[in-house]
Formats: sequence, structure tokens, C-alpha cells
Amino acid sequence: MKYILVTGGVISGLGKGVIASSLGALLKSCGLSVTSIKIDPYLNIDAGTFSPYEHGEVFVLDDGGEVDLDLGNYERFLDVMLCRNNNITTGKIYQDVVEKERRGDYLGKTVQVVPHITNAVQEWVEKVAMEPLHDNSVADVCIIELGGTIGDIESMPFVEAFRQFQFRVCRENFCVVHVSLIPMPGSTGEQKSKPTQNSVRELRGLGLSPDFIFCRGNVPIQDHVKTKVSMFCHVSPDKVISVHNCKSLYRIPPLIAEQNVVQLLKDRLGLGSLSQPFQTKSALKIWYELAERQENVRNEVHIGLVGKYVQMEDAYISVVKALTHAALHCNLKLVIQWVDAEDLEIMKADQDPVHYHDAWKKLCGCSGVLVPGGFGSRGTEGMILAINYARKKNIPFLGVCLGLQLAVVEYSRNILNLEDANSSEFKSDTENPVVIEMPEHNPGHLGGTMRLGKRTTVFKSEKSSIYKLYGCKEYIQERHRHRYEINPAYVKQLEKYGMKFVGHDVDGERMEIMQLEEHPFFVGVQFHPEFLTRPHKPSPPYLGLILAASGKLTNYISRGCRMSPSNSLGNLSSFKELSV
Ligand code: GLN
Repeated sequence: MKYILVTGGVISGLGKGVIASSLGALLKSCGLSVTSIKIDPYLNIDAGTFSPYEHGEVFVLDDGGEVDLDLGNYERFLDVMLCRNNNITTGKIYQDVVEKERRGDYLGKTVQVVPHITNAVQEWVEKVAMEPLHDNSVADVCIIELGGTIGDIESMPFVEAFRQFQFRVCRENFCVVHVSLIPMPGSTGEQKSKPTQNSVRELRGLGLSPDFIFCRGNVPIQDHVKTKVSMFCHVSPDKVISVHNCKSLYRIPPLIAEQNVVQLLKDRLGLGSLSQPFQTKSALKIWYELAERQENVRNEVHIGLVGKYVQMEDAYISVVKALTHAALHCNLKLVIQWVDAEDLEIMKADQDPVHYHDAWKKLCGCSGVLVPGGFGSRGTEGMILAINYARKKNIPFLGVCLGLQLAVVEYSRNILNLEDANSSEFKSDTENPVVIEMPEHNPGHLGGTMRLGKRTTVFKSEKSSIYKLYGCKEYIQERHRHRYEINPAYVKQLEKYGMKFVGHDVDGERMEIMQLEEHPFFVGVQFHPEFLTRPHKPSPPYLGLILAASGKLTNYISRGCRMSPSNSLGNLSSFKELSV
């Protein structure tokens, strides 16, 4: 196993995750199989109890692990499926060590950060790296991203663990990529290498010497600055890599490849015998193509995202990715109108008429409406109003998890005339609880107690467009994260009035997919399809929304779910041949 440790210097938020996953993607295109581990040095066991305001979205894996949103970036970039153990937190490591201590595994010894915590980290990394991937192969390379910045108190035990680890697995199997910042203060217009020098000095002081320094900045790093970084940081100049801001994220893998990083990594880690020659023609082309699509799309599609955490875009990062992938697939430029659900509520008209009118104006300018997942009652009445508007005005609509549940509430109230219909999450004493709690998932505390992870949905009807969008499969598998479900007692009545539950769980008890008859596209799903979107394989429900919102759905389906030939890009102007 070859390990690449990615550390960060100077400030957080430099895009370490994107760089780490781009490295993985490049190695994958040489025929290597790659896995990854993300280390979050906080004390939480997992991301399950995080507020979206603080940490952004909670990403869900096949095995039900609730993890940091960076794992989503890895899965999308590397096109792999990870497990909960691919996310290490300080909390998990301490839990592991403390449990062993209670069992008496340490035979009466004093349990300490060094060696017990540091050993636990190393064992965890080795074990997870060796775990079979979803195709049952074992990875050749494991990319480990250490969250935070070198020098943080929290990450110290991890840095020490990797200092020891380099001897445990031998130097030829372990290398360090340090991602740092080269600022260019406005007053001088010069690129400054001092912060990078300091952070590399700190890293080396802790016993890890970087093999590569990836320099982040607004513009390409100048040659003399590169020389200086090389000289003061004990790294050869060809291993100082410029990762300046690009118009599209998809430019990063080619940008890194153009600086010969693949060959340098192969030499450093002895990957030659494992890998195939790196053929850019097939490998890199996909990234150029995505980048050019993203940079050149002109026709816009406006989607109203009606949610509760709209001030914090990261709270919906997978939803945004799913919409972006779908829009790119259709050669459309995605414009998201962020609508705070509360602003749509009628009492806002009095309290805050400006926001109220703005919110409705934004929503009415959209050709598609999306209500994503969420928890808690705040904003739910606004979401119901948005759903009502989309249903009545024939605007394409997609409801995800909470979005599905509220679509059922809306329909029950306004079509079934059950005026007080609600979810028992928001009104426990309603006479018409059309959405109810799943009792087996309520042991009395909140962490990790939902219906989580990959579950199967069986299609019940072959008529619906969502069935066709999913490729006319008998069943599909998507990821879940919910505590409530559609009340089966109301299903017959809802179906009688045209709200069809076209996908159920394997036992046929749980409603998984809803589609309205007599509407261009009105779909609700109990799962979160956004967790499985890929740049080249957009998630079917999201693709359906974008196609319907741009008036292309009927043609797409009648063509056997294919885009029209005019959708292709033609020649790639920026494409460069590279071969390693
Ligand atoms: N709050 C709802 C439930 O627990 C919806 C959850 C979600 O949207 N992820 O079922």
C-alpha cells in the first residue's frame, strides 16, 4: 500500500480536499485503484449531530455513516464508495482507546496519547486502507487528508502518528503533500513565500518533511517565488506546484498533471510496476470536457431552492452538485435562486413585506422548484406554500426527503381536504398525521438513530417518467437519512386522487418515490439521490427536474433517455496531449 498524506498550512479553506481528490483522480486514470481517508481532528464521533449552519451538510455513505461533506467530494471526484471508517475523528480514536482501556486490553499500563492514541491512529489507517473497495479489490494507493492546519493543537497527535507511520510503512511507501498559501498583498503586488516557509518549518519541526508543496494563490506562482520556496523548504523546484484559482474546479486535475506531478509521484512511490502508462487522451479529456462545458454554457436554467439553511450554501452542497451535474449534462448554466422558506409565509407579508415580496418574486422567476431535506418545523409552512404553487402552476418540482413529506402534507390538506394534515414531527397531536415516525428508529437519543444509508426501492409502476429516468430498472438503491415516513394508512386515499407512490421499499410498506399524475414533473423521493451524483452520471431525479424545467424532458424520454446529438461539445479548444 502506498500512502499520500495531504496536510495544510497557513490557513484553512485552501482547497486541500480538492487537491487530494484530484491527485487520486489522476492516479486512478493510470489504472491504479485509490481509496481515501479524511481525518477531522474534532472530538465529535461523527457528523451526525452537526448543525448545518456550522459545518455544512452531513454527508451519508452506503453503510449509513454520517460524515463530513469532504467525503462527498472524494466520492464524486474518485467515483468510489467509501465507508464510515474512512472518516477518522479524534472522538472515534479516543472512543476506541477508552473502550480498550475499560476492557483491560492495556494490561494495567498507563494509557497515554503517545503511544496509545498514536498507535490507534496508525492501526486505523492501515486497516481502512486495506479494506476491499466496492469492486472487492484492495486499493493500491490511499490518500489521507489531515483536516485543519499544521500547528493546531487538535491535530498534533495525528501529526505525531504520521511521523511514526513513515517508518512503520517505509519511506518508499509514504509521501507528504503540503498545501500552502502564497499570498499577494495588494499594497506590494508581490507574491510572498514567508507564510509557506513558516508552515513548512513547523511541519519539519514535527518530524514530517514535505515531498511536494502545492502553492495556492489567485494567479500562477512566479518562477523566482518557486525557487525561493524550493530553497527555504527543502523541496526540489519541480515539486513546487502551482495551484492557482481556475474558472472551473474541473481544471484542477489537468493543471496538476501538466506540472508532471503524476510522473513525480510514480518515481517517488515506485508506482511504475503497478500502473499503466498515463494516457491523457482518455484520462484527462473528461476533465477538460467538463471544464469547457462549465465555462461555455450560456443558456440558463433557474431553479428555486426553498430551504431553511439557505444562508449557508455548504448546507446543501450535494444538492447543488447534483443540480450542477444535471445542468451541465444538458448544456445549461445553473442559476440557483436561494429562497428562505420562512420568507414565503403569510405572516411575513406583515412583519417583513420586503423579504416576503422578494422571496415570492424570486420563486416566481424560476422554471423549477426544489425542496430539499431538513429537520424541525421552522420554514415548513413556507415550503408547503412553494409546493402548492409548483403543483398548481405546473412548475416542475422535486421534493427530497422532507420535500416529499411536505408534498404529501400539501396534497392532503388541499386535495383530500384534511385541513389539519401534518407530519407528527411538527404537530404531534394532529388528527391527520400523514407523515409519522418510524418507531424502530427512536431509542431516545439523537446520534446515529435514523434510517440511514443504502436501501433498495422497488418500482411499482412502469408508467412514471421517474422510472424511465432511472433506466427502467426493476429496483434501485439510494441513500437515506430520515426518522419519519409517509403514513401507510393514507396511501390509498392519496393514490385515488392522483398522487402515485411508484416506488416502495422491499417490504412494500415504506413509500419511497411519489409522482403526481397530470403534472409535467412533480416528484418526491424519501431518499437523498444527491449523495450519489457524479459529474458524468447525474442523479436521475435531479436530471428529470432540470430537463423538465428547460422543456426537454418529453423529448429526452421519447429518445429513449438520450440527449440530442446537438448537445455534444465538439472540439475541445484547451485540450493538451500529455503522456507519462
Ligand atoms: N425530518 C424528516 C425526517 O426525519 C426529514 C429528514 C430529511 O429531510 N433528511 O424524516
